[in-house]
Amino acid sequence: MDKLVSLCKRRGFVFQSSEIYGGLGSVWDYGPLGVGLKRNIKDAWWRSLVQRRDDIEGLDAAILMHPKVWEASGHVAGFTDPLVDCRTCKARFRADKLSDSRCPQKPSKAPGEHSACSLTEPRQFNLMFKTFLGPVEDTASVVYLRPETAQGIYVNYLNVMNSSRQKVPFGIAQIGKAFRNEITPGNFIFRTREFEQMELQFFVRPGSDDEWFERWRAIRMGWYEEIGLRADKLRWHQHAADELAHYAKAAYDIEYEFPFGWQEIEGIHNRTDFDLRRHQEYSGKKLEYFDAATGDRFLPFVVETSAGADRVTLTVMADAYREETVEGELRVVMGFAPAIAPVKVAVLPLVKKDGMPELALELYHDLREAVPAFYDDAGAIGRRYRRQDEVGTPWCVTVDGQTAGDRSVTIRHRDAMTQDRVGLDQVKGWIEERLR
Ligand code: ATP
Repeated sequence: MDKLVSLCKRRGFVFQSSEIYGGLGSVWDYGPLGVGLKRNIKDAWWRSLVQRRDDIEGLDAAILMHPKVWEASGHVAGFTDPLVDCRTCKARFRADKLSDSRCPQKPSKAPGEHSACSLTEPRQFNLMFKTFLGPVEDTASVVYLRPETAQGIYVNYLNVMNSSRQKVPFGIAQIGKAFRNEITPGNFIFRTREFEQMELQFFVRPGSDDEWFERWRAIRMGWYEEIGLRADKLRWHQHAADELAHYAKAAYDIEYEFPFGWQEIEGIHNRTDFDLRRHQEYSGKKLEYFDAATGDRFLPFVVETSAGADRVTLTVMADAYREETVEGELRVVMGFAPAIAPVKVAVLPLVKKDGMPELALELYHDLREAVPAFYDDAGAIGRRYRRQDEVGTPWCVTVDGQTAGDRSVTIRHRDAMTQDRVGLDQVKGWIEERLR
């Protein structure tokens, strides 16, 4: 992990927030390559659900919502984690994650394991961030930063359904920020207090929910393999009855084996009609679905698939990172699938003379109209290839002494390090074909 974190900073994937002021605990900013990678992951998710399916619509609901939403959803009363304090070192921990936490005292042990540790009894701590709407800071103006994007979908479900003329079964997908005042954030961008979620809420007829739940489990696991994650690093974790969230009838997590152990990257829940029933009750508005074919009315059940965009970005980076020895030298490679690599192609003149930079720049300007491309003419060609390997660029196009004569270039493959000779005017098509 340390190597990945340092590469992220050095190459511009992820920086610590407000670094010049010493940073802010577990808050991170995405640099030029990180923002490209994360956007590609979000786009791949959106494409697979919204663009390629007729039964899912997109939504972008606001972060701030009516405070009653969070009463109805159960978050005001129950979105809590058990908190323990250490009277000796004043550190705070999640009582249910003590074995995963480290006491600040040395040598490194779990909280409670040093003789000096003195832990308090657990007390419940609400994870929602509060703020005030308008200039007066009183209880009447309290609003919350949403802790999940799902509720914005539930309160809009009739709006979306009626305006898009969808019929149950159908889904609503949304990508957006969520905020949780986590007691122990950490592991880089794995657990942060501000993060982005990619959520699908799929509305189905009660009785068909188990079948849809299984269908969505299969689709979602398949997506991780599609974006290039190694299948043997993925597994299911089924929630036992005592682990289930208050709204869930059944739940599975997709877990990935990080350097710090197996951890959840996506949760798939059968949320029943819990949320719609509660919003119907708290708002006094009928949220039932009328089935014109059968003439009956019902509150749909909801199958939810909820993934963290930041957590998936970390997963993709951890999965892609590898070190190899090539001709006695260390080569660091980010083996991103081409579709999600932040830069698809680098254009490199072999040397900075004999008209090569001019031809390379012309090609670069043409390519960047179609795909994210990068131009580099600084340093030995071998070092330039290594720099691209380290940020996961799948292909490097080199303009060399032959190019001016026969209008051909080499295309080097990041993983195999082999090269193909391709006509200058065929490069764009060659790349686009491989990204399809
Ligand atoms: P955890 O048990 O890790 O706290 P959770 O079960 O509370 O997670 P969900 O409420 O199911 O998580 O959220 C769905 C997804 O949102 C998670 O699988 C994860 O990818 C992402 N997520 C949740 N909390 C965070 C966080 N603090 N930082 C980054 N991503 C998060």
